Parts: sequence; C-alpha cells; structure tokens
Amino acid sequence: MVLKAIKARIYPNQTQKEQLLVNFGCVRFVWNQMLNMQIERHKNNKDAKYQNHFAMNNMLKAMKLEYPWLKQAESTSLQVANRDLDDAFKRFFNKKLKNGFPRFKRKKCAQSYTSKAVKNNIQVLDNHHIKLPKLGVVKYRTGRKITGKIKAVTLRINSQGQYYLSVLTESENQTFKKTGKVIGLDLGLSDLIITSDGIKHDTIRFDKDMQAKLRLHERKLARRLHKAKVEIAFDKHEKVLFPRTKLTQFPRYQAERKTVAKLKNKVANQRLDYLHKITTKLVKDYDVIVVEKLNTNGMLKNHHLSRSIANAAWSKLVSLLDYKCKWYGKQLIIVDPKNTSRICSNCGKKNHDFDKLTQQEWLNTREWNCPNCQTHHDRDVNAAKNILARGLKTLA
Ligand SMILES: [Zn+2]
Repeated sequence: MVLKAIKARIYPNQTQKEQLLVNFGCVRFVWNQMLNMQIERHKNNKDAKYQNHFAMNNMLKAMKLEYPWLKQAESTSLQVANRDLDDAFKRFFNKKLKNGFPRFKRKKCAQSYTSKAVKNNIQVLDNHHIKLPKLGVVKYRTGRKITGKIKAVTLRINSQGQYYLSVLTESENQTFKKTGKVIGLDLGLSDLIITSDGIKHDTIRFDKDMQAKLRLHERKLARRLHKAKVEIAFDKHEKVLFPRTKLTQFPRYQAERKTVAKLKNKVANQRLDYLHKITTKLVKDYDVIVVEKLNTNGMLKNHHLSRSIANAAWSKLVSLLDYKCKWYGKQLIIVDPKNTSRICSNCGKKNHDFDKLTQQEWLNTREWNCPNCQTHHDRDVNAAKNILARGLKTLA
C-alpha cells in the first residue's frame, strides 16, 4: 500500500469561502490556546506533566463550551491541530533534531486546516466535484485522478487568495510494466540530465522568460510599499481622524503584491511540471535508474543563481525519482560520484592527464580521448555511463 497526496485547485463559492476562513481561524485559535496553556502550566509548576494530544483533545470539549463559536469549525480539524502541536513539541523535545520551540500562529502565516476522513465525510463525486465536511460540494480541478481510499484532506489558501486542497489517499501499489532497461544519469548545469544513452535534457531557465516582467513588478511593489509607509507615518504625525495603520489598507499595494506572487508561482509551477514529466518518463521507460549522490554541503555554499537553481532542481529530481520508483515498482540506486568524469567508461582506466589541468581548464573540457584505449568521449555521457556501471555493480 502506498500513500499519495494529490493537489488540486478548488473554486469555493462565497459561503464556502466564508466557512473556510472561519475554519482557518478556529484552527489557529485552538493551536494558540493550547500552546499558551502548555506554557502557563509549565510556568506555574515546573513539574507539571506535558499534555499530549489525547489530553489536549479532552480539553477541546471544555474549550468549545467556553467559546461556542468553535463549533462552526469542522471538528476533526481541531483535533488535527492538537496533533500537529503535539508533533511540534515532540520535535522540540528531541534534542537530536535541534528544532525550536513551537510558535504562535499569526493571521499572516500560511492558513490551512486538515480534516480526517470518517464515515464517508469526504467523497469524490466526479472529476470536478468533491464533497467536503461542513463545506458541501466544491468544484475542483487537477491534472491527476483522485483514486484510492481517502485518509485526509488539507485545505489551504495561498498568498494570491487562491484555494487549494490536497487529498491524502491510500491505494494498492500500481506498477509500471518492466522494460528490462537500465540507465545512468549525470546531473549537470547547462544540461540538467545527461543519460548514459547519450540523451540530454536541457535545464530550462523558466525564470529568464519572466525576468524582465518580474523585475518591473518588483520595483513597482517596492515603490508602493514605500509610499504606503510614508502615508502611514503622515497620518500618525498629522493625527488625522481615521489614521491608516496597516498595509492592508492600501489596495494598490496589495494588488501589486498579488501580481508578484502570481509571477513567482508561475515560474515554480512550470519548473515542477517539467521535472514531473521527465521523471515519469524515466520511471516508465527504465527498470533501474542510477544517479550520483548529491553533495549537499557544497550546495549551500554556492551563491551563483544558475548554480542554486540547478541544485534545487537536482534535489527535487532525485526526490521525485525516489518516490516514483517506489510507487511504480522500479529501482533507484544512488552511487558515489567520485572520479566518474575522469575514468574511461570503455577501458576503466583513470585519465591522469586531467590531474595537471587547472579548475577552469577542467571545467572547459567537454570532450576527450582516452590515452589508453583511444575512445572518444563526451564528458557528461561518459560520466553517466560510469554512474550506471557503478550502480549495476551494487546489484550483482
Ligand atoms: Zn579507455
């Protein structure tokens, strides 16, 4: 059995939107109240036992009596809030994880809530309609089919005011047909992937198409933010009757903020979509996929934009391959990348001519001939072949 999360955009009507906002607020309220209660208990009595999520769920009943409006919220979502808070505390107590103390949630934070599936309260009616607790039938749109047993559903609103849901389902492991083929992948900068079969997939810089537009809007946003701040200061200084104090009172600034978020979101979506397409095809076409182990320490240090984009793409790529291989019954092998670019994939000898090269000269070497067996190599394809050979060795 595998768990899958399927994300979909939803289009709630006005009443449903209001219900969603109420629910976000209730969940935030419960989280903050419970967090405050834990802090106060500890302050009053250092020996007081920490209250886990079962204990917090028991307190919910009393809380609902005190604050009857909490009943407007979908009830399992409040329990999930307690569980999330309990998890946050557990991560904090676990000294190995070095997680910080749980924080209070502000209205500005990302807003979401999760409902657990109980007795058919969540039902997929057709490809465009889903029945959700407290909300009723909501229109949704997604590129994927929601299949399997529904375990939970998370609803959220993003910075542009769009609503999304993510359905967690459990289903039988669906496998892709075995093809008997294996492949090694070298991950690069200008070409994102170079396969041992010699196929190259470009690193498409989706951000570049958008760059000019984004820069224009970011400047506009900065200008409007500045103006808004000046006006807030003015109102305060001149003691006007109804002074503006919050940025939410400046609709032109808010509109621009949404535009910038939208553009950034679009780039991120295009990038992810591209990676999904490549990885699904690879997992469909090959039974065994071998990749190099990524050097995560070196990644953090790099400040070049193209580098950092490539690094992010590589990590995402490997994580997508990892779970897709598990879902579809294929195998992902991760190998040590040491010397894979310097060894001849034909005769297996290391080319020592490279030792004399400077860093720049070495990076510029795109093709070479093996001094031992005279085979002509494309640098990246040769590396991919070595990566594949290393992976197959671990299988034998
Ligand atoms: Zn050779």
